[in-house]
Amino acid sequence: MLNKNEIYQTEITDITEDGSGVGRIDGMCVFVPKTAVGDICDVRIVKVLKSYAYGKLEKLITPSPDRCDSDCDVFGRCGGCTLRHMTYESELRLKESIVHNNLFRIGKLTDCKLLPIDATGASTRYRNKAQFPVAMNKNGLAVGFYAKHSHDVINTVDCALQPTLFSDIVALIRAFITENSISIYDESSHSGLLRHIFLRSSANCESISLCLVINGEKLPHCDKLISTVISDFPQVKSICLNVNREKTNVIMGKKCITVHGDEYITDTLCGLKFNISPLSFYQVNHDGAELLYGKAVEFAELTGNETVLDLYCGAGTIGLSVAHKAKSVIGVEIIPQAIENAKQNALQNGITNAEFMCADASKAVTVLHQQGVKPDVIIVDPPRKGCDVSVLTALVQFAPKRIVMVSCNSATLARDMAYLCENGYKAVKAQPVDMFPRTMHVEAVALLQRDINS
Ligand code: SAH
Repeated sequence: MLNKNEIYQTEITDITEDGSGVGRIDGMCVFVPKTAVGDICDVRIVKVLKSYAYGKLEKLITPSPDRCDSDCDVFGRCGGCTLRHMTYESELRLKESIVHNNLFRIGKLTDCKLLPIDATGASTRYRNKAQFPVAMNKNGLAVGFYAKHSHDVINTVDCALQPTLFSDIVALIRAFITENSISIYDESSHSGLLRHIFLRSSANCESISLCLVINGEKLPHCDKLISTVISDFPQVKSICLNVNREKTNVIMGKKCITVHGDEYITDTLCGLKFNISPLSFYQVNHDGAELLYGKAVEFAELTGNETVLDLYCGAGTIGLSVAHKAKSVIGVEIIPQAIENAKQNALQNGITNAEFMCADASKAVTVLHQQGVKPDVIIVDPPRKGCDVSVLTALVQFAPKRIVMVSCNSATLARDMAYLCENGYKAVKAQPVDMFPRTMHVEAVALLQRDINS
């Protein structure tokens, strides 16, 4: 039996999906964050449960060849990056094995060909979006990030995943808050105004969208904020207030009030122009998204005669990037602002064979089925929880030749692929794409083909 607070030596032999190293001490699994496979280390036990324990790295005795020095002061405290202590090559190997394990263990998809992971190469400054929580803690105003597994806000100066410009804009807003005594939202009492600072940029930071999430409808001295921001940062083309009066962990509320410029900013992706509003989903890694969509297009094998259904379409990015290779595209998405963007995006790119529907995917598939729509190819890109069974059932009823699944969670992807394989589809291939370097997140694209023998 392991004792809390005691130090034991172990070798790390595996890494969990949440990024903790795994060692074995006295036959018990011990999870140790910030370790790498091959580390021999002293571990201080911090918590002992029935069949496993948690430990803290006390001393590295022999470092693993997978190790590198972390280049971030807040690594380990911040909930963002998990893998800054590992070389990028070993990170890619780890992610490939996570996708592999999920497809083979959860999905039992032994016939599915797993292609080697693809990466864009940039493992810093790749994010185009940040949401900084704002809080008043015992040391005063804090704007930055949530500490791991908590809602304590820690000040961040500069995050290596984001454009440096974001830190400069946050510094300006910090000064504005202090100079104008803007009240800060307090989660426990559900009082105070400012909750989050949202920033999103187009590639190369040519256009930036700033959105302040507030527990109210008005921001005092808003005009002053606008004039300072746009004079210091002319790249800021859109400023919005997002109203979130709910007692919730969800960052954004449903309503956005534009106070400067348009509600959206415009970015170029896959050669097309996309308007993106703060409430619309947009891939956070621009170059990664181009890589990902490239794979999705390749897997879709379009010849120009197909009706394509793009389920969970966001601002229409995937559907519109394949429209020139298809007869028609139908996009379905639940967020109204995203659908509004998608329609404008079709128009501004001169795409006339795409239509968009604002609805819950499971309701939309029923309606489309009743209308007699017969998609030849269906592309799905659901949130982390994957597709509802009702959606999967409808996919099978539509009986398209090919289903391309894009997913940021390979566990639910494997589950959903397994369902389709039990219902007349064959999992042909899957491709992990590293859209989120230094974090545990990994994206994957998979191709399922209707099994003509079933
Ligand atoms: N394909 C897009 C968006 C993918 S993210 C892109 O690559 O940019 C998943 C999208 O699914 C989000 O836009 C989210 O708003 C949407 N969504 C979540 N639940 C949904 C549901 N039940 N029905 C339809 N869309 C949903």
